[in-house]
Amino acid sequence: MAGKNAVSESGKVRRVAVVGGGLAGLMTVIKLCEAGVPVDLFSLVPVKRSHSVCAQGGINASVNTKGEGDSPRVHFEETVLGGDFLAQQPPCLGMAEAAPSIVYLLDRMGVPFNRTPEGLLDFRRFGGTLYHRTAFAGATTGQQLLYALDEQVRRFETKDVEDNKGVVVPGEKMVRKFEFWDFVQLILDDHQVVRGLVAQDLKSMEIRAFSADAVCLATGGPGIIFGRSTQSTICTGIANAIAYKQGAIYGNGEFIQIHPTAIPGADKLRLISESARGEGGRVWVPKDPMDKRNPVEIPEKDRRFFLEDKYPLYKNLVPRDVASREIFAICYRENAGIMKRNEVYLDLTHIPEPVLRKKLAGILEIYEKFVGTDPYHNPMKVFPAVHYSMGGMWVDFERDARGSLKMGSPRNHSTNITGLYNVGESDYQYHGGNRLGANSLLSTIYGGMVTGPAMATYVDNLDRSSHDLPSTLFEKAQEREQKRYDKLASADGDENPYGLHQELGELMLRDCTIERHNKVLDTVITKIGEFEERYTNIACVDKGKKANQAVPFMRHLEGMLILARVIAEGARNRDECRGAHYKPDFDDKMKDAPNPIGRDDKNWLRSTLAKWGGRTGAQSKVEFIKAFDYQLGGQTVHCNDEVDVSLMELRKRDYTKKKAAFAKDADPAKKPEATTPAATTEASK
Ligand SMILES: Cc1cc2nc3c(=O)[nH]c(=O)nc-3n(C[C@H](O)[C@H](O)[C@H](O)COP(=O)(O)OP(=O)(O)OC[C@H]3O[C@@H](n4cnc5c(N)ncnc54)[C@H](O)[C@@H]3O)c2cc1C
Repeated sequence: MAGKNAVSESGKVRRVAVVGGGLAGLMTVIKLCEAGVPVDLFSLVPVKRSHSVCAQGGINASVNTKGEGDSPRVHFEETVLGGDFLAQQPPCLGMAEAAPSIVYLLDRMGVPFNRTPEGLLDFRRFGGTLYHRTAFAGATTGQQLLYALDEQVRRFETKDVEDNKGVVVPGEKMVRKFEFWDFVQLILDDHQVVRGLVAQDLKSMEIRAFSADAVCLATGGPGIIFGRSTQSTICTGIANAIAYKQGAIYGNGEFIQIHPTAIPGADKLRLISESARGEGGRVWVPKDPMDKRNPVEIPEKDRRFFLEDKYPLYKNLVPRDVASREIFAICYRENAGIMKRNEVYLDLTHIPEPVLRKKLAGILEIYEKFVGTDPYHNPMKVFPAVHYSMGGMWVDFERDARGSLKMGSPRNHSTNITGLYNVGESDYQYHGGNRLGANSLLSTIYGGMVTGPAMATYVDNLDRSSHDLPSTLFEKAQEREQKRYDKLASADGDENPYGLHQELGELMLRDCTIERHNKVLDTVITKIGEFEERYTNIACVDKGKKANQAVPFMRHLEGMLILARVIAEGARNRDECRGAHYKPDFDDKMKDAPNPIGRDDKNWLRSTLAKWGGRTGAQSKVEFIKAFDYQLGGQTVHCNDEVDVSLMELRKRDYTKKKAAFAKDADPAKKPEATTPAATTEASK
């Protein structure tokens, strides 16, 4: 594969690095390789075990095969409304418009999507929409998608790098994969430009510096900060914490999604996907919370379908922030959960078993395995759980004339650190205050399709390749991390890192999720400070020289403490209700606000931008900023906290209405212009 600049002046292969082998990372790698840019790919786990493998319910695309009048424009508007207007609108428009061709691309790659009897792709409903918009492969969609992209990346692992004249560079392949490697530091030059990274082999514990002309973090969400969550145990947010500490700006950290329906568990909270409600699942509690009858024997008249009663149009498929708050209110405010416990029923028993087996077997097996009850014939017991982060690393974008994204612009998905990109759940820009179900898989793949070309342009325009820089820059970075590792490995304080993490998780889960109160948040922030102090007295509980799991965990814990503060302080500062961020004390104020959508948008329709402010003693400091400049291609780019709301007017977000109060001016017949070359890959042409 000949890239325009595949080889540096001194004859070295010019690689970039992608950290993260989930859907976002893999799609970025594919697009880079297609542009002729060789890649080093890093992942904590085999890429096929990335958290994306857990995704269940599906991926959104307004294909409108059921003739309901859905369109990419409606998808765009519902995404923006679902996110309570905090999402950047141009990337959302680009994403919604590219979605149908992305699903067809995945289909051509061999993803076994469910089909209708006529052989068309089947689509199910998800939250926040009345349309059947979600393509799915049973209830294991993430796994099917991840395996499909993994196959594409494997092709590039065997493809030779060619120099600028098309001559094969001996022994060099387009993708070098480093699985079980932990990214530990960015290598920045004197001008704060990314020149590579340091990573550690989690088996041999070797620490090594890698030069790279650009680095992309596609490192997923930070759910484990909350201890128990639906996310995988590797989702600590560490890579973002490292980059944040090195100067990258973190956006909207306080926006954490709480999914309405998970299985409560002592170790982990396992998701029962929204697809269960998309296929007709009903949420209810007995009218008498102490009703002792077997739930299947409780007649409908004695059941309380509280979502259907309050939201007659959307019923059980209101957006997640709304549904979670309703369940929370039933259990905590009314003490009306099942047997007055924190549980409600999610009932599928009225749906024929063969239909459930065809469409939902993947998740129902999980319920049966971990709860021991057959969900085909018994209502499941569920409760909300931490699930997703709308917030993440701040990234830039460049609009085209129509307001969508200008493909190939090096600004797309660039962070404020020159040469550092970020994509997937680890970036902040597509979902605003609340993500609609099945939009994440879409944003990871669309984001990858945008980020690959953006990085390729950036690399093409670099004056000098990182691979030609003096080796001392890399040796010093490697030494620094080796020393840090040695220090942690010999730490013999009194604090057990796992115990400390448990306390952090319990605190964040209890006090910084569905409902937030300023007084409580003040305590959370004080507590985080205490945890940071205690972290300095930590003990390494594993002295092994190989496959030592304790030291990496200690590193991740430090990152979790840093991001916990960003989340908690962001929540403390935002005195309003928006999407998943709900402060009851400010709810009434919203109702009285003169603004047509009922709140103080002058102050709060803004991205929270958090900047590392160093430490005072052991405690980290967050600086919240309004504007900043960054350098790209020799230019200064000025950015601020304003949200681009130029493509859709603000509307009241009210899901109780009988008629949809939005998308009314969207014209389903209006076909989007072809704005994106994104949805092809070599393999799928
Ligand atoms: C149970 C569950 C079900 C879901 N179902 C759906 C669904 O049906 N539809 C939908 O749209 N969304 C769904 N989501 C959300 C969606 O799965 C995720 O948001 C998405 O898969 C994230 O993809 P990603 O590529 O950004 O990150 P991930 O898939 O999390 O990948 C992150 C990668 O980064 C690597 N990494 C992290 N840190 C480091 C480090 N320090 N060094 C090296 N590598 C590192 C990891 O090894 C991994 O390869 C679901 C989420 C959960 C929890």
